[in-house]
Amino acid sequence: MLKTHHCGELRAHHVGQAVTLAGWVNRQRDHGGLIFVDLRDRSGVVQVVADIAHAPGAHELAARVRQEYVLQVRGTVRPRPADLVNPRMETGEIEVLADEIVVLNPAKTPPFPIFEDTPVEESLRLRYRYLDLRRRRMQRNLILRHRVIKYIRDFLDARGFLEIETPILFKSTPEGARDYLVPSRLHPGKFYALPQSPQQLKQLLMVAGFERYFQIARCFRDEDLRGDRQPEFTQLDLEMSFVTREDIMELIEELMIGIVEECSDRRLLTKPFPRLTYAEAMARYGTDKPDLRFGMELVDISDLVAGSNYGIFAQAVAAGGQVKGLRAPGCAGYSRRQLDELTSLAQKEGAMGLSWLALSPDGEIRSSFARFLTDEQVQAIIARMEARPGDLMLFVADRPPRVAAALSALRLELGERLGLRDPGTMAFCWIIDFPLFEWNEDERRWDPSHHLFTAPMPEDLPLLDTDPGAARGQQYDLVCNGEEIAGGSIRIHRREVQEKIFGLIGLDLEQARERFGHMLEAFEYGTPPHGGIASGIDRVVMLLAGEESIREVMAFPKTGQAVDLMANAPSPVDPEQLAELHIRVVEP
Ligand code: ASP
Repeated sequence: MLKTHHCGELRAHHVGQAVTLAGWVNRQRDHGGLIFVDLRDRSGVVQVVADIAHAPGAHELAARVRQEYVLQVRGTVRPRPADLVNPRMETGEIEVLADEIVVLNPAKTPPFPIFEDTPVEESLRLRYRYLDLRRRRMQRNLILRHRVIKYIRDFLDARGFLEIETPILFKSTPEGARDYLVPSRLHPGKFYALPQSPQQLKQLLMVAGFERYFQIARCFRDEDLRGDRQPEFTQLDLEMSFVTREDIMELIEELMIGIVEECSDRRLLTKPFPRLTYAEAMARYGTDKPDLRFGMELVDISDLVAGSNYGIFAQAVAAGGQVKGLRAPGCAGYSRRQLDELTSLAQKEGAMGLSWLALSPDGEIRSSFARFLTDEQVQAIIARMEARPGDLMLFVADRPPRVAAALSALRLELGERLGLRDPGTMAFCWIIDFPLFEWNEDERRWDPSHHLFTAPMPEDLPLLDTDPGAARGQQYDLVCNGEEIAGGSIRIHRREVQEKIFGLIGLDLEQARERFGHMLEAFEYGTPPHGGIASGIDRVVMLLAGEESIREVMAFPKTGQAVDLMANAPSPVDPEQLAELHIRVVEP
């Protein structure tokens, strides 16, 4: 090794030791006879002193080094004088007096400073990702990511799981997104698809008798460019045989608690993880991804305002809709402008408007609608909302999905404004009993709400013939801080049930055989009952790191437009390459 120690590991007990270090120049400060060079490697930073009186050669070199030069330093660890101890530096009690400095490589001036985590425009960071990755924040995030993945591997290995790789070049594996296709040179006009997940392969591994499988798997989805998505991402993919959903949920819960407690300093707010049915989550939070770091639940007041003189409420209820509200503690003083902002937010989610009622600290009522109601009605609403002086109440009247969407968005916004979404804490919950299907109005058919291998709840099997929309699936989602971080299900393991599902989603047997013939065939050779789950590792690490985008926990992410700014991908290819692949490009 070109070094005996890492920069960041040196402490007071190293004083007197001769050390050789190697790393990058974080900063250099020239004080004439004394030059200070902060030397950085992955472990941290240490101060090197070049003293003209001690080693004129080292001093002369130190005068010429610039940011990000790569150096090797030979010297001795010595204590810093008491008044120069730097408590903000882990190595702040000591410094290294240089005997000799070797420039291993000079460096161009970086396009942004490496030594401090000042904000830098993201496109510049992605263009020079290898420099961005030198910065403290990214080093910390990738180290965390490594530790989480290692924890997962050890945890599952100890419980009898085998990690098995599955192909990247495969066949379409529908997970609700478009496939990335890879043309075949050897088979003109034919294509592989990159897996959206190893779903079918892991189920086939259960048919194959492996019983406990997992993989840190790369998944590829050509999704629409919204939200914080990446064309490729990493999933903990897992499948087990001879289990109920209970077994899988218990296993994953233990794993997640272990990850949070062993790999991070985040505080777990929910233990054990609460379980909500889909219907309950929608009713109480307006979403199947509730952020449970705070309460502020939705309250139904439909019965209190039905038939009232406030048309907006009365008509919504009369039309079969509902009126629900939430209570923002201490926000009664919100100005007209603040209320308008909240109204636009509700409207963005499809609500017609927002009705509000503020109870001032001295008990006075200010409201957009109270004058249309009787005193009793207003008091009944205040009582139902459990409002206290100083509270603001917001109401939406509409069809249930609109009410849910608008109030859920308002809840998150107010939670943010009131500082209730503390990134230092984590609140998990399970969502269960999802409807098996969603009605697709455009195509006039049922779509699987998870995927087409999800088994119905056993007691709901008869509903497949009579009322498919009411059938629940044996599906479970794990949610943390309002983000879905895992989802899975018990699978169908009987061919006749699988064929019935194909029928309901409008696949005739011919099409089904073409796309999933291998699955249907395998299911005839003694398939064990099985189920599994997959968890988005990028998202889990993002939450643990307190970051707001999965790009911050990926070494080389693409932009929101699916572009790699560093390597400049995607990019055109040579006509010869296209010809070899039997491909002609049609310009849009
Ligand atoms: N394959 C599913 C997904 O990626 C997860 C699962 O059912 O295991 O969402």
